[in-house]
Amino acid sequence: MSEDTTQTAFTPRVFSGIQPSGNLHLGNYLGALKRFADSQTAGIQSIFCMVDMHAITVWQDPAALRRQTRELTAGFIASGVDPDKSVLFNQSQVSAHAELAWIFNCVARMGWMKRMTQWKDKAGKNQENASLGLFAYPALMAADILAYHATHVPVGEDQKQHLELTRDIAIKFNNDFGVDFFPITEPVIEGTATRVMSLRDGSKKMSKSDPSDMSRINMTDDADAIASKIRKARTDPDALPSEAEGLEARPEARNLVNIYAALADLSVDAVLRDVGGKQFSEFKPMLADLAVTRLSPISTEMARLMQQPDEIDAILRHGAEQARAIANPILEKTYEILGMVR
Ligand code: ATP
Ligand code: MG
Repeated sequence: MSEDTTQTAFTPRVFSGIQPSGNLHLGNYLGALKRFADSQTAGIQSIFCMVDMHAITVWQDPAALRRQTRELTAGFIASGVDPDKSVLFNQSQVSAHAELAWIFNCVARMGWMKRMTQWKDKAGKNQENASLGLFAYPALMAADILAYHATHVPVGEDQKQHLELTRDIAIKFNNDFGVDFFPITEPVIEGTATRVMSLRDGSKKMSKSDPSDMSRINMTDDADAIASKIRKARTDPDALPSEAEGLEARPEARNLVNIYAALADLSVDAVLRDVGGKQFSEFKPMLADLAVTRLSPISTEMARLMQQPDEIDAILRHGAEQARAIANPILEKTYEILGMVR
């Protein structure tokens, strides 16, 4: 984790969130979940959130949202996040997120928001019909982070731009009111799989919202589904290279090697020393075996936890209490800075 010497006033604190929008996938695991447990073992206070208010920026079926929120919580726990060590909760139970988001809506500029590539990607050609919430999403994300004065945010590569916006919002707030109140958050984008790509299209990231189930490996997929999706993954006809440079113009090959490296906890060079020269017909079954070995204990544990929804709900309620205890005083101080009578 990088040290930021300008941040001496703020205690190191990790925050990250995942949307309970279903289809939790290998990209979420390698880019986010797998790394969350690391911050916990490093002894840094960590706060993890099921960002249900982000999920409703596109329509969600209510029964599905409820199930997906519990399933995501199970995914965190099964990936090694311990609710006794980290704060684990869902966003809508802590109103500070929405309140601070409104304040940040008044800090962020339209021009900043219009530049967000996720907005452009998700709204596509139909911007007039996208929700206002989808447009304002990055201000809510800034609130998620800054309500805890979080200093470090482990995320996948796709969130880099939103984290830069979070820094801009913190800087502008601090400047506008002549304070040094919000920390300038550090993105933590590390590892060999910070951007897992779609199995069908090496130029698109693997996403929960991709309409094609074949584009992603879901955390709940069984061994057969994983093997079949990897077997059918798009590749080129060449053998694997022996060095990382050989992957540069081969996005699909690079993606599969990156996934292998991240799952095996090896560097890309170490993997290629081993598999360089092999055809995909040989490499794909190796990758499928490794993915099944790594993911099946997690999906089994998720399924077990899902049998006890009351327990999951109790964990989220308890986490929300802990989260409120941190966020509410920060929100109160924000209102005071703004001059709101309380
Ligand atoms: P959606 O398509 O609905 O936006 P998503 O797959 O992007 O879903 P999010 O809940 O938006 O999932 O993101 C949760 C976390 O997973 C974030 O830290 C994000 O950066 C990370 N993440 C998402 N997709 C990938 C990916 N393909 N590779 C690596 N990390 C990813
Ligand atoms: Mg996303």
